[in-house]
Amino acid sequence: MAILDPSPANIMVAADAILAGELVCIPTETVYGIAADATNAEAVEKIFSAKNRPADNPLIVHVSDFIQLDDIVAEWTEAADLLANRFWPGPLTLVLRKSEFIPDSVTGGLDTVAIRMPDHAVALELIEACGVPLAAPSANRFMRLSPTRAEMVAPEIAERVACILDGGPCRVGLESTVVDVTSNNVKILRPGGVSRGEIQAALGRPLGDAPPDGPRRSPGNYDRHYAPRAAVRVVDEVPEAAVGLIFGEPTSSRQIRMPMDPEAFASTLYAAMHLLDSQKVEEILVQSPPDEGPWEAVWDRLRRAGGER
Ligand code: AMP
Ligand code: MG
Repeated sequence: MAILDPSPANIMVAADAILAGELVCIPTETVYGIAADATNAEAVEKIFSAKNRPADNPLIVHVSDFIQLDDIVAEWTEAADLLANRFWPGPLTLVLRKSEFIPDSVTGGLDTVAIRMPDHAVALELIEACGVPLAAPSANRFMRLSPTRAEMVAPEIAERVACILDGGPCRVGLESTVVDVTSNNVKILRPGGVSRGEIQAALGRPLGDAPPDGPRRSPGNYDRHYAPRAAVRVVDEVPEAAVGLIFGEPTSSRQIRMPMDPEAFASTLYAAMHLLDSQKVEEILVQSPPDEGPWEAVWDRLRRAGGER
C-alpha cells in the first residue's frame, strides 16, 4: 500500500478504490480516517475488521455537500440546521434520525446516524469524486491513538487499505465533538474539536451531557481509548528524569514541550504521544493542563489515554 500525494489523479485513484468497495485512509482536519462507501454494507464491514472495532460502535458518515443529507437523514432539526450552518465544514458531528439508505452496520444497529462535513480540501474533493458519503472512523486500531500524520497510520491498518492520501498534519489533532441534535434537547455525547462554549454561544443556551447509559447513549465512549502502548498519567510536575509532556523547558530528549493553549496542545498531542511511544517507553507523564472549559476535549483524551486496561 502506498502513501500518495493528493494530486487530482491520485484522488481519482482513491475514488475508484472506494467505489470498488475498498478502503482508503484520508486526511481530515481532526485526524486521519479509514474510509469506505457509507452506502455499501460489505465495504463498511471491512472497516470494522481492519480496526478490530466492535460492531456496536457506530461510524461517522462524512459529506461534502448539504444536498447529500437528503439521502442520509430521515429528520433534520432546527438545532441541526443552526449548528451545521455555523460549524460546517468543521470538527462537529451531528447525530440525527437515519434514513433507510444507510446500512445498519454503519450505525451499529441504532436508528440514528452521526454525520459531519470535514474541513479538509482533500477529504471534500474525494467525497465529491466518489459521489457517495464516506463512513470514516479514525484510522487507528481499536482503542489506540488516532493518527494525525499519514506516517502515523499503523501497519495493521495500512496493509488493509488501497492507499493512504497524504494531506499533511491534521490541524485540529483530536476527534470531532459529537452532538445529539435529534430533538431540541441538544446534548454533547463526546467533547472534541468544537468547544462546549462555542456550541452554547451558537445555540444561545447552556447544554447538558448525555448520561453515559441513558436512552441517548453513545456507544464507543470507552474509559480506555485514544491510548498509546505506554501507560499515561497526568501529574502536577514531571520529574527531570521522567518521560513526558511538559509546559516548561525539556531536560532530555524524552520530554516534549507542549503549548499552553488548548487548541495548539490538541493539535500536537497524539503526535507527541506517538513519538514517545515509538521509543518503547513504559510510561508517559503529562503535566496537568488547566482545569478549564476550553481544555475539556484535551482532558477527555488524557483521561482515556490513561484509562483502565
Ligand atoms: P470515531 O471513532 O471518531 O469515528 O467516533 C465515532 C463515535 O461517534 C462513536 O464511537 C460514538 O461515540 C459516536 N457516534 C457515532 N454514531 C453515533 C450515533 N448514531 N449515536 C450516538 N453516538 C454516535
Ligand atoms: Mg476513533
